[in-house]
Amino acid sequence: MDCLFCAIIEGAIPSKKVYEDEFSYAFLDINPQAPVHCLVVPKKHISSIDEVSEDNRDTVSGVLLAIPKIAKLLGLEGGYRVISNVGEDGCQSVKHLHFHILGGKKLPETMA
Ligand code: 5GP
Ligand code: ZN
Repeated sequence: MDCLFCAIIEGAIPSKKVYEDEFSYAFLDINPQAPVHCLVVPKKHISSIDEVSEDNRDTVSGVLLAIPKIAKLLGLEGGYRVISNVGEDGCQSVKHLHFHILGGKKLPETMA
């Protein structure tokens, strides 16, 4: 399967790794939208939140459990925002489930 984030997880495409465990891989976004912008993805390919099901609950919960650990590693003591875009209307550009972790400043209330 031709998937950018699978290639990043495999190391075929370089990334700035922040965190890794059994279920998840986190790396800095190439085009940051905030002073801190990290992506956390499941190591197993899941297309989006729309594909979350009982079958992949361990993987998905593993990724969610990693988020506060990653936020600590990134020094986001003041808080942060987690976003996952889904499908066409959500402007999802990479079809591998990912959570944006944004922070490092007071984020605008209107930022969707
Ligand atoms: P989406 O628009 O699908 O929610 O988010 C995809 C994110 O992946 C974007 O924020 C984009 O900047 C990031 N991205 C796209 N290609 C690469 C890449 O090759 N490396 C990294 N680190 N981030 C990427
Ligand atoms: Zn993938």
